[in-house]
Amino acid sequence: MCTSRMCTRESADGSKMSMPIIIKWSGQEYSISTLSEEDTILDLKQLIKTLTGVLPERQKLLGLKLKGKPADDDVKIGTLKLKPNTKIMMMGTREESLEDVLAPPPDSDEVINDFDIEDEVVEVENREENLAKIARRVRDYKIEILNPPRENKKLLVLDIDYTLFDHRSCAETGVELMRPYLHEFLTSAYEDYDIVIWSATSMKWIEAKMKELCITTNPDYKITFMLDSAAMITVHTPRRGVVEVKPLGVIWGKFPDFYNRQNTIMFDDIGRNFLMNPQNGLKIKPFMKAHLNRDKDKELLKLSQYLKEIAKLEDLSELNHKHWERFLSKKQGH
Ligand code: MG
Repeated sequence: MCTSRMCTRESADGSKMSMPIIIKWSGQEYSISTLSEEDTILDLKQLIKTLTGVLPERQKLLGLKLKGKPADDDVKIGTLKLKPNTKIMMMGTREESLEDVLAPPPDSDEVINDFDIEDEVVEVENREENLAKIARRVRDYKIEILNPPRENKKLLVLDIDYTLFDHRSCAETGVELMRPYLHEFLTSAYEDYDIVIWSATSMKWIEAKMKELCITTNPDYKITFMLDSAAMITVHTPRRGVVEVKPLGVIWGKFPDFYNRQNTIMFDDIGRNFLMNPQNGLKIKPFMKAHLNRDKDKELLKLSQYLKEIAKLEDLSELNHKHWERFLSKKQGH
C-alpha cells in the first residue's frame, strides 16, 4: 500500500519529484503537472505543444533563466529552482495562425489601387511566395529589443529618410536637418504607441543617425526596437518589377501578443514600402531642402494630433490614412 508519506520519500530519492508549472499564453492558463525535475526545457516545450499547438521552436518562454540567461533546451527543470506552480508566460504562434497574421487582407487589391502605387497589384500567384519570405524573416531576423513592448499600446513604425529628417542636404550636424517638431511628435506618440524605427539601410547607419538626432537618448520617450534593410523583402510587381518593401507581417509574426493589423500604423514617404499592408500605411510628405523648410514644415505637429485622435479607435486598419488631414479637420470641427 502506498501511503502519502511513502510516495513523498520515493519521489525525493527516485528523482521523480514532479514540478507543477502554469503556462500563460494568449490570455489562457495551462497547468502542467506531469513534469519531473529531471525533465528538460525541451520536454516542457513538447508538453506545451500538445496543449497549445505551438511548435517548440516557435515558443519563447519568458522568465526561464539560468544564471541570468534564457535557459537552453537541454537544461533540466530541477536546476532552475522554480517554486511549484510558477507562472511562465509563453510567446509564440501556431503555424496556421501565423499564416493569418501574415496574409494580406482580402480587399487589399482595391486599397492598393487607391495609393500612389496604382495598379501595382501584387499578383496573387506571388502572394504565397511573399508570405514565405515574411515567414523566413520572422524566423531568422534578429531583433534587439531596446525597450520591452508595453501592454495595451498601439504601434507606430517610422521610416527615417525624408520622414524624420532630410538626409540629402548638407549641414554641420544632423540636428539641422531634423524635421521640425520631431521630439515633440515622438513624445506625444509615445503616450499611446510603442515606437519602432524601420529604415532601408544598415543597422550601423540607423544607430548612428538615431544617436545624432538624440532620439535614442531622449528621456521623454523610448524606442522599442529598430529594423534595417535585412528585415525587408522583395516582391514582384507587374509594373515596376522587383521592389523592396517593409512588410509589417515581420513585426506581427515576431510579437503576436502585442502588435497586429488592427493596432499598427506606419509612416513612410515611399508608398510602395507598404505594398504588403496598404491599410496600415500613411504616406508622409517628404521632408526635403531642410534649410528652406525648417520654419514651414508642420507635418509632424499635425500628425501627432492625428495619432492622438485615432489612438482612441479599436481598429486603425478601418481608416484610410490617405485622408488623414480631412479626418483631422473634421474631428477638430473645421
Ligand atoms: Mg524615406
